[in-house]
Amino acid sequence: MSSPDEFDAFDNAADPAPRVPLSQRAVAARPAPYLDDLNAAQREAVETLDGPVLMLAGAGTGKTKALTSRIAHLLTQGRARPNEILSVTFTNKAAREMKDRVSRLLGQSVEGMPWLGTFHAICVKLLRRHAELAGLKSNFTILDTDDQLRLLKQLVQAEGIDDKRWPARQLANVIDGWKNRALTPEKVPTGDAEAYNGKGVKLYAAYQQRLRELNACDFGDLLLHMVTIFQAHPDVLAQYQRWFKYILVDEYQDTNVAQYLWLRLLAGGHKNICCVGDDDQSIYGWRGAEVGNILRFEKDFPGAHVVRLEQNYRSTAHILAAASGVIKGNEGRLGKTLWTAAEGGEKVRLIGHWDGEEEARWIGEEVEAMQRGTRGLQPYSLDDMAILVRASHQMRAFEDRFLTIGLPYRVIGGPRFYERLEIRDAMAYFRLVISPADDLAFERIVNTPKRGLGDKAQQKIQVAARSNGVPLVEGARILLEQKGLTGKGAAQLQLLVDNLQRWGRMVGEAGISHIELAEQILDESGYTEMWQNDKTPEAPGRLENLKELVKALESFENLEGFLEHVALIMDNEQETDGAKVSIMTLHGAKGLEFPAVFLPGWEDGLFPSQRSMDESGLKGLEEERRLAYVGITRAEEVCTISFAGNRRVFGQWQSALPSRFIDELPEEHVEVLTPPGLYGGGFGAAAQPASTLHDRAAEANVYNSPGWKRMQSRASERPISQPRETRSPVIDLTATSSHTVGERVFHQKFGYGAILSIEGDKLEIEFEKAGIKKVVAKFVMAADDIPF
Ligand code: ATP
Ligand code: MG
Repeated sequence: MSSPDEFDAFDNAADPAPRVPLSQRAVAARPAPYLDDLNAAQREAVETLDGPVLMLAGAGTGKTKALTSRIAHLLTQGRARPNEILSVTFTNKAAREMKDRVSRLLGQSVEGMPWLGTFHAICVKLLRRHAELAGLKSNFTILDTDDQLRLLKQLVQAEGIDDKRWPARQLANVIDGWKNRALTPEKVPTGDAEAYNGKGVKLYAAYQQRLRELNACDFGDLLLHMVTIFQAHPDVLAQYQRWFKYILVDEYQDTNVAQYLWLRLLAGGHKNICCVGDDDQSIYGWRGAEVGNILRFEKDFPGAHVVRLEQNYRSTAHILAAASGVIKGNEGRLGKTLWTAAEGGEKVRLIGHWDGEEEARWIGEEVEAMQRGTRGLQPYSLDDMAILVRASHQMRAFEDRFLTIGLPYRVIGGPRFYERLEIRDAMAYFRLVISPADDLAFERIVNTPKRGLGDKAQQKIQVAARSNGVPLVEGARILLEQKGLTGKGAAQLQLLVDNLQRWGRMVGEAGISHIELAEQILDESGYTEMWQNDKTPEAPGRLENLKELVKALESFENLEGFLEHVALIMDNEQETDGAKVSIMTLHGAKGLEFPAVFLPGWEDGLFPSQRSMDESGLKGLEEERRLAYVGITRAEEVCTISFAGNRRVFGQWQSALPSRFIDELPEEHVEVLTPPGLYGGGFGAAAQPASTLHDRAAEANVYNSPGWKRMQSRASERPISQPRETRSPVIDLTATSSHTVGERVFHQKFGYGAILSIEGDKLEIEFEKAGIKKVVAKFVMAADDIPF
């Protein structure tokens, strides 16, 4: 077992601050200029070095600043060496930032802080040292979700369970949930015995056993093993309790039970633990975070020094008031008073758009306008602006728009839309259909979804292709003809090869649009199903991205055009070092701040997310509301909230109601902007006749318009969970006046037809399949406008 002295060697940690003997500490204490930048409450939190400290305070009150100052203080006061301080943050980005901030405060680099990082990063290090206590070797591998699933599938099959009814993904989810709660198989409560068809616990135990045999663990194990080791080996725990003189935790409200237990165990010695957080910003309940952890801190650490910070240094009074107005709607909060000295400034800006594309267009223009400096505002750098979305699929519209107008952007916390795994996979299928010689695409998808075509089978395909001088698809066909491959894999490969050929023939065929074909490819290949069966938290997002991809196709005449477009825009996008506007999810924006923030897509169903509300009812809604609070409080000076009245989903226009959170914004702190085009002021809308513009204004929901009032009264009647289907689809892109006799049109229910006569808003139409009918014009689209 390692002794504390070995820690230095293990971590290879530099130790910039020389160890100061206790007796000399007072002499050694250097001046601390960083303390001058703190207010009284922050100083208290920084200077109370002994015993537990809790900083529970609202957004932007300087919690993270105080936490980093505390690290600097511990170091300059000689209270601990850099490698005796354990500081935990939630993301790698936050960890990096914290290191940078401490370096700045101290005026020197603090590379020697091996224990500053995320829970996972720190636990990997610890577990490598004590792997044998978890039945592993120190060179254990960490499985990704794919491997984890494959393993679970084997166990499920061995148990004779029908994995169609009981998908292995579901089991993976159940096990993750237990791990988040620090439950080993033996500790799973009897109440959970029903999980996964009553076999969950047994399979969990088998899974853990199998992992040990493979000398592997999954992400959840990193914490679970360490908690278990600490509990079972008090000597090991005691060693770390002594070693970590000070523990600091940012975003404590988002810890799950395993993380909480781990911290509590480690802090049990010196009890020098300082946690900071905000119950209003707890946004990871869906991943097992327990906001209760922060609320019971004083019980866990009796005598805890609790510091409340009330001054917000980040945002203007309007932004703060708007955020406070929204979060007020949640029950069971601690409730906090927040104030800011930053009077004046812009009100929160609210703007309704006709549709999602217009929203993206407007934000693009606005970003450029702000960059130039408009309406008396100083110019903003692109680095100062961020677009925060609820769901990652929303990013695509912005990325496309920004690429088109050449606006540099970066996506934070994930790949850019066309670089996402599922998008690349889907595009590989499309590429292969258009160009069967695209071997790279073939390699990418030949075993995605899994077709039982492992490395060996793929090698055989490569050999067959190479020896015949043909592309891989052709090689695969030859291999199959020659019976070079047998079994399940062979049948699956045959199906893929046949399908590719069949889809290829359908390209450009009359009767099927490229959009239908794309959907068909994703369905028939089993690719969509693969994600539908995936029960990991990322899967629903991936499915939404796939839908978004199909939506993107609508602006193109054919698949080739689309593929070319993507290739070109990705090529145009050169990595520049210059300033960029940031695009990220609200979850990813936690702890960050920007002078100007755009919050698009505030529509019920999108935000608050329908899924959250369906799955978790009021609890889900409250978590969404906290997310709204997080979003607004990221903004320092300008906060712009927007929504669209219509969004295109799978080629269908769906109307959307403004988010209920918009109703909760205090009106006196909100300025409603006029949607573009309303008074003929540019953008696509200006081309429409005036009557349509009026409709647009109403539908675009401006506070003082009849449409807005109507929306508000409808919104107040809304139950928490309203399925999307109950909303009436609005298809009135082309208003009555724009139709002409003889025009070919499309009706949602009756399909295609030609207009025989027009009477006010009623149209007499001869439908190709449904015969002659009179219908209301608003449900009819010009056939030219239909994207399929
Ligand atoms: P969040 O809840 O969003 O994580 P936070 O409470 O961690 O916010 P910080 O990010 O630490 O807040 O601080 C918000 C902003 O206020 C930062 O720009 C920070 O530099 C500034 N700030 C914090 N404290 C002070 C202070 N005493 N004087 C001046 N500026 C301050
Ligand atoms: Mg913070």
